[in-house]
Amino acid sequence: ARRARAAASTGPGRTADGHPVALLANIGSARDLTAGVEGVGLFRTELLYLDRTDPPSLDEQVAAYRDVFAALPGRKVVVRTLDAGADKPLPFLRMAGEPNPALGVRGLRVARRNPDVLTTQLTAIATAAAAASAEVWVMAPMVATAAEASSFAAACRSAGLPTAGVMIEVPAAALRAPSILRGVDFLSLGTNDLSQYTFAADRMCGDLAELLDHWQPALIALIAACASAGAEAGKPVGVCGESAADPAFALVLAGLGISSLSMAPRSIPAVREALAAHTLDECRTIAKAALAADTPEAARAAAPA
Ligand code: PEP
Ligand code: MG
Repeated sequence: ARRARAAASTGPGRTADGHPVALLANIGSARDLTAGVEGVGLFRTELLYLDRTDPPSLDEQVAAYRDVFAALPGRKVVVRTLDAGADKPLPFLRMAGEPNPALGVRGLRVARRNPDVLTTQLTAIATAAAAASAEVWVMAPMVATAAEASSFAAACRSAGLPTAGVMIEVPAAALRAPSILRGVDFLSLGTNDLSQYTFAADRMCGDLAELLDHWQPALIALIAACASAGAEAGKPVGVCGESAADPAFALVLAGLGISSLSMAPRSIPAVREALAAHTLDECRTIAKAALAADTPEAARAAAPA
C-alpha cells in the first residue's frame, strides 16, 4: 500500500489499473501554477479585467496568456473567456443594472451587446497560443443553448483557435448535451453554477448548503447525462467545479466517464491518491450506486469514506 501511495504522490491522474483521468489546475494567473501540474483545466481570465475602467488591451492580454502558456510546454491549458456580468460588474461593459444578476447578462451573454470584447479576447488567446507550445483549448461560460455553443465555436475557429468547448453550468445545456456536442469539441461541467441553477439556490447562500451539496441526486444525474453524451460523441467531458476536489466524489466522476478533473492545485494530491487506490471497474460500481441513490447521504455512502 505504501508503494501505491508513493507512486500516486506525483505524476498524472490514473486509476489503480492505469485508466487516465487528467488532474488539472484551476488558476487565475500564472502565479497560481504549481510545479508538476498535468495542465490547466480552468484558466479564469476575469482577473485581467477587474478594477479598471477600460478593457485590457490586446497586447496586455497576449502577455498574460503567454505567461501561462509558456509555463506549460506541451500541456493542455483550457482558457475560459470572460465570465463577467451584473454579478461581477465591469465598468466598460455597457450593462444595465439587473434585479437578478445571476440570471441576467453574464458569461457568454455579455458578448451579445459587446461582441468586440469576445473577439479581442479570442484574438489575444490565439496570438499567445501561436507563440507557445501549450495545447490551448478555449471555452465559454454560462451557455444555455446549442445555438450559443455553435456560434462560440465558430468565433473561436475564425480567430484561429481550433479546439472550442463550453462550460455546462445551466441545466438547459446539460439536458441538451448531445446537441451541444455536435457543435463543440468538449464540455467542462462547472458544478458550482450547475448546482446553483439546478436547485434555484444562490451559491453564496450558506443557509442553502444542503441544496448545493454535490452529492445531490439531481446534480449527479445531470453529470451522468453529460458524461454519457460525451462518450456517445467520442468527445471529452471534464469537471472544473469544486466537486472535482472531493476525493470520494472524484471516484464517482471517473466511474461516470468524466475524463478530467480540474481543481485548486492544493487539492490535486488527495484526488490523485483516491484514484490510484481504485480500479476503473470499482469506480464504475461506486458511480452506479451513487446514481441510484435517492438522497445525498445515500449517494455519499456509496463511495468509500
Ligand atoms: C463553476 O461554476 O463551477 C465554475 C467552475 O466556474 P466559477 O466558479 O468561476 O463560476
Ligand atoms: Mg461558473
